[in-house]
Amino acid sequence: MAGISARKLDKVYPGGVHAVDRLDLDIDDGEFFALLGPSGCGKTTLLRTIAGLEQATGGSVLIGGRDVTNVTPARRDVAMVFQDYALFPHMTVIDNISYPLRIKRQARVARHARATEIGVQLGLADLMDRRPAALSGGQQQRVALARAVACHPSLFLFDEPLSNLDARLRLEARTFLKRLQRELGVTTVFVTHDQAEALALADRIAVMEAGRIRQLGTPREVFGRPANTFVANFIGSTPMNLLDGVVRGSTVDVAGGSLPVPAGAEGLVTDGEKVIVGVRPEYVRLSRSGEGLAGEVSILEHLGTTTLVTVDCGDELVGATVPEEDEPEPGAAVRLAPVPGRLLLY
Ligand code: ADP
Ligand code: MG
Repeated sequence: MAGISARKLDKVYPGGVHAVDRLDLDIDDGEFFALLGPSGCGKTTLLRTIAGLEQATGGSVLIGGRDVTNVTPARRDVAMVFQDYALFPHMTVIDNISYPLRIKRQARVARHARATEIGVQLGLADLMDRRPAALSGGQQQRVALARAVACHPSLFLFDEPLSNLDARLRLEARTFLKRLQRELGVTTVFVTHDQAEALALADRIAVMEAGRIRQLGTPREVFGRPANTFVANFIGSTPMNLLDGVVRGSTVDVAGGSLPVPAGAEGLVTDGEKVIVGVRPEYVRLSRSGEGLAGEVSILEHLGTTTLVTVDCGDELVGATVPEEDEPEPGAAVRLAPVPGRLLLY
């Protein structure tokens, strides 16, 4: 088993694109770690540089404390699963799964025994003689996972391995992957642009933008306390409220009303300062007490057991997620109260 570290890791492509920008990172042994960010932010490049498939242009990569910056991929003891699975089309499932063992010169009987064992674990027992073209997307994805597991790597590197599955299967595969990683305890780096996937799977998440990490934390931290408006915008299945405000002593004028400056932020802002007030719709309640921001219900969006209520507060639209039984009527006059402690200033 192994942790991973990057030290001032840099990757500039020949064309001049700075895909990974002097990045520092420490991933713990056994951790399920997500690299999350929009397309083009450098996730794949970082993963491939960890794997040794791309040569760093600066800095270093350490696996299990060993500097592997100039070590070939084969000697890094990592298994990678790609978005398109990269199965060998002319090989059967059992040969695909046991291929890494063949590379390691294991005898056919031994490697087929191992492949069968994993195949059974991953629900592929009846498919061992098929070729990839005769498998569904979900089955192909499991074969790719089985192949990754086959040679007991000390590191799993996953590049959006669920993105080619349809929505339902994707949720099942997510749970399956999490369970597998828990059982095996193998350090895992999981690349995704899907914030919900990262929140659901990871022990910790690095949110990336333009080759850099904008925030690193647990799902609870990046969701509950996004460090900047980039992360605030990127994380969450409903958009975070980011409202223009002006500090007035111990309160902040916002959305035609006034809210207390959050505890902890008092010393950091000055009277008259312009700020952005951030609060997730999930942390905004409909107030019964006559306090909070006044507005008129404009749009209702049904999310299942909750409803996203968009309230027109004059200059600003403010979202609040409410239980379906508390859903107001469109056009109703309401007041919105952020949950104390959930208001953030940027
Ligand atoms: P992500 O996986 O987050 O979508 P990538 O790591 O694929 O991002 O790409 C990061 C940046 O590097 C992008 O601007 C992309 O166009 C560029 N890039 C990726 N691969 C290459 C390459 N082989 N040559 C030149 N530029 C590349
Ligand atoms: Mg990518």
